[in-house]
Amino acid sequence: MRFSALRVIAEGLTGHRGWGPLWRNPDPKPEYDYIIVGGGGHGLSTAYYLANTFKQARIALVERGWIGQGNIGRNTTIFRSNYLLPGNEPFYEFSMKLWEGLEQAFNFNAMVSQRGIINLIHTDGQRDAYRRRGNAMLLAGADAELLSRDQVREICPFLNFDNARFPIKGGLMQRRAGTARHDGVAWGYARGADQAGVDLIQNCEVTGFRIENGKIRGLETSRGYIGAKKVGVAVAGMSGKVMAMAGMRLPIESHVLQAFVSEGLKPVIPGVITFGAGHFYVSQSDKGGLVFGGDIDGYNSYAQRGNLPVIEDVAEGGMALMPMIGRARLLRAWGGIMDMSMDGSPIIDRTPVEGLYLNAGWCYGGFKATPASGYCFAHLLATDRSHDVARLMRLDRFESGHVIDEKGVGATPNLH
Ligand SMILES: Cc1cc2nc3c(=O)[nH]c(=O)nc-3n(C[C@H](O)[C@H](O)[C@H](O)COP(=O)(O)OP(=O)(O)OC[C@H]3O[C@@H](n4cnc5c(N)ncnc54)[C@H](O)[C@@H]3O)c2cc1C
Repeated sequence: MRFSALRVIAEGLTGHRGWGPLWRNPDPKPEYDYIIVGGGGHGLSTAYYLANTFKQARIALVERGWIGQGNIGRNTTIFRSNYLLPGNEPFYEFSMKLWEGLEQAFNFNAMVSQRGIINLIHTDGQRDAYRRRGNAMLLAGADAELLSRDQVREICPFLNFDNARFPIKGGLMQRRAGTARHDGVAWGYARGADQAGVDLIQNCEVTGFRIENGKIRGLETSRGYIGAKKVGVAVAGMSGKVMAMAGMRLPIESHVLQAFVSEGLKPVIPGVITFGAGHFYVSQSDKGGLVFGGDIDGYNSYAQRGNLPVIEDVAEGGMALMPMIGRARLLRAWGGIMDMSMDGSPIIDRTPVEGLYLNAGWCYGGFKATPASGYCFAHLLATDRSHDVARLMRLDRFESGHVIDEKGVGATPNLH
C-alpha cells in the first residue's frame, strides 16, 4: 500500500477499513544470509538499505522487545550536520542529505522539519571555535552561518542576552537542521524494510553467538537458534553486553540520558537552540511541548530511567538561558541508555570475528545519524568495504591512536 493524500481522502470516505498493519509479524526461519541485531533506528535503516539499495535478500532483523522501544523512540528528535572533524562532518552531511529525501524515499510521514539550529556563543574564544566549525561545515558542503547578537535576538527575543555570567554574543546557525518524529522514522524504515522482504522478528532476544573457527555461524536467541552468514549488531546502549557474548570488550560505557517535555504551549521557539555555556538544548514539538535535555547521568547504568540531580542541572541550564521556561510545567521525563564511546564518535566496522560487524558508540547523537548509519552499515555488510564517509569510524582506532575526538576532551565519555 502506498500512502498519499488521495488515499487518506478515499479511506476517510469509506470508513478507514483499508488500512493494514505496517509490517508483517513473521516467525524466524532456520537461516538467513544477513541478520541485523537491534530494532532501533540504526538496525531498521540498515535492513532497509540492505534490501532496497544494496538489493540483498534473505535478511532478518531481530529485536528483543518491540520495534522502536529503545532510544529511537526516546530521543529529542534533533538532526543536524554541524560537526568539525573530517572523520565526522562528511558522514553527518551525508545523513542530512538522506533526511532531506527520506519521506519520499520510504513513503511515510516522519514529520521531517528543517526548522534550523542555533548554537549560542557566549565568549570571544567560543566565537573563534564556532567560526572554525562553520568553515569546516562549508568545506564539507553543509550550510552554516555565523549570527551576530542582534541577529540571534531577532530570531529568539526571549533569550537572556545580558545574563551576567553567560551573556549571549552570537550564534552558529545551520538552517537545514531540524527535528523529525522519531517514531515515524522507525516505522517508516520498518515498513520499507518489510515491503522489501526483510523479516522483522520482535520479542527475539539474542542470547549468544555461534562462532566456529573465528567465523560467525548464527545466533542463539530466545526464539531458538538462527543461522546466518553475516551478522550486523546495532544495539546502541546494549552494545557492551551483546558484544561481550562474542568475547569482545568494547571501548564503550553505557550511561542514561534523560529528556524532558513541558505542557503544550503556543508556538514560541522557532527552531532548536543550544546553550553554549552549559549543557542544555531545547526545541518545541508540533503539539506545543518544549522538548529539552542536557547532560547524561554521571554513572554507568542499563536502566531506562534517570535521577533527580540531572533534572535539576538541566532545569538550571534552561533558567540561565531563557528564564521564561520557569513558568512552564514539566509534563514528562524519560531516559534511554547511551553507548558512550571513548572519543565521542561512532564505530561502523568489521570485528575480529569473520562475518560479524559492529555499529555502535553513538553517544548523544545517533538519531541524526540514523539514515547514514544504516546506509553505511548496509554498504559494509553487502560489500565488505567501508563507505567513504564512514571509513574513519574504525573499531581499532583506540589501539592505533587515530581517534575522532570531536570535542577535544579525550577519553571522558561524560563530556561528549
Ligand atoms: C533522551 C535522549 C535524547 C536524545 N536526543 C538525541 C537527539 O536529539 N539527536 C540525536 O541525534 N540523537 C539523540 N539521542 C541519541 C539517539 O537516540 C541514539 O544514539 C540512537 O537512537 C541509537 O541508535 P538506535 O536508534 O539504533 O538505538 P535503539 O533504539 O536503542 O535500538 C537498539 C535496539 O537493540 C535492541 N537490543 C538490545 N539488546 C538486544 C539483544 N540482546 N537482542 C535483540 N535486540 C536487542 C534494543 O531493545 C533496542 O530496541 C538521544 C538519546 C536519548 C536517550
